[in-house]
Amino acid sequence: MSIKVMIPASSMIDIKNTTLLLDSPQSCSRCDQLPADFFESHRLKFRAGYQKTHIFGKKYKVENNYTLKIRVCETCYQADYLTNPEMLDRDATTQGRIAKFHSIAWTLGGLLAAAGFLLLTPIIPDTPALKPFKDLWQAPVAVGVLVLFLTWLSQRKQQSLILHALDSAGKDIRSYSRAEVRTPILADENDLSAVALEIKFDNEVWAMETAAIHHWLTEKITSSDQTVSFMQN
Ligand SMILES: [Zn+2]
Repeated sequence: MSIKVMIPASSMIDIKNTTLLLDSPQSCSRCDQLPADFFESHRLKFRAGYQKTHIFGKKYKVENNYTLKIRVCETCYQADYLTNPEMLDRDATTQGRIAKFHSIAWTLGGLLAAAGFLLLTPIIPDTPALKPFKDLWQAPVAVGVLVLFLTWLSQRKQQSLILHALDSAGKDIRSYSRAEVRTPILADENDLSAVALEIKFDNEVWAMETAAIHHWLTEKITSSDQTVSFMQN
């Protein structure tokens, strides 16, 4: 059984530094372990009030990016590096710094390869001044592909190290998955009671406690589509 926590738009207005932080209780939101000084991240959008505009205009009257952070232990945080390494690249942690380095390398390799193929196209005119560069299009492609390959190898190596460490410690990462999130689009941006974020937790006790602290509604879920009861905290 899981618990779905429903967060109203009024709580989105209180978000400080564009981060919605779920840091209480102090234990891991997945496995209850202590200490739990890490956070799983979800990059989300708060959208409300659909409006018709021209192609470059805003589609919604209110559209804000924010990050949801939920308290986890080091083991569960490391497990995230195996499944969602791109979610760690803004964290001031060892895995976060490695994820950031890999993220930059992926971008750099992709840009180099794209620049090489761009030299092949008529977008770069075949003038005498540019011809020497166009003739060398293979060089940036080769370097770009090499950077991408080395980055992939490095990421695989890092993931293999973490997997080995978790295995040695007898931790099964499949037991504790990330929270599932859904961000409904609000029809009326002034309706602060409308649910703007739903978070599904497998850890019922942790979910109920965090909902009680913030006075958020919860639902018990017995299967993926069956709701058995409503609760008001
Ligand atoms: Zn944990």
